Amino acid sequence: MKQQRLQMVQKQLVDRGIADVRVLDALKTVPRHKFIPEPFRDVAYTDGPLPIGHNQTISQPYIVAFMTELLNIESHHTILEIGTGCGYQTAILSCLAKKIISVEVVPELSESSMNRLSSLGYKNIEVHCSDGSQGWEQNAPYQRIMVTASPKSIPEALLDQLDIDGRMIIPVGKSVFSQELKIVTKNKKGHIDIRPSLPVRFVPLVT
Ligand code: SAH
Repeated sequence: MKQQRLQMVQKQLVDRGIADVRVLDALKTVPRHKFIPEPFRDVAYTDGPLPIGHNQTISQPYIVAFMTELLNIESHHTILEIGTGCGYQTAILSCLAKKIISVEVVPELSESSMNRLSSLGYKNIEVHCSDGSQGWEQNAPYQRIMVTASPKSIPEALLDQLDIDGRMIIPVGKSVFSQELKIVTKNKKGHIDIRPSLPVRFVPLVT
């Protein structure tokens, strides 16, 4: 599996322009196949999303790497992640930052990802079962926010919980066919700037 993982990093990430060495190292290290249900483990390192149950998916490796690189994480950051799913993106973030607070609305997914992440030895992660459109007030503000389910517009609570000088990556769209990744930044005066990035397709953020 290690060999397949290194090949995934070279062909799907490096060859397509992902250049941040820390991000590449994280994707070389985290055992993606252990986050995927048994029947799909053989194809864990292929170039696409895969089903993880409950009508949800684990994102394509390139999208995970692309969004992580865009987030521009520093090792002292506390990160809020919305949409834990199987916990793969959470594990990648945990390699790069001080603390990850991850919120998942489906109880079975939040419980299984919490168990998986702790049995794999990730210690700087908290998973909470809650509606992520409300963020997670207790640990705010967050220097970085990563959202991996798509709302129709950016939830106010997430803007409020973003720190000064903070950055959020979020897929926003009126339908699954018209989503766009947005890069949201908050400057020293608290002013919000929103810039568009790639067109994407995520499951909806249910509220
Ligand atoms: N990052 C995940 C991808 C998960 S897919 C991974 O690597 O596996 C999106 C996830 O968002 C799903 O698990 C879905 O249940 C969750 N989700 C949808 N609406 C949500 C909400 N309002 N709050 C928290 N999680 C939500």
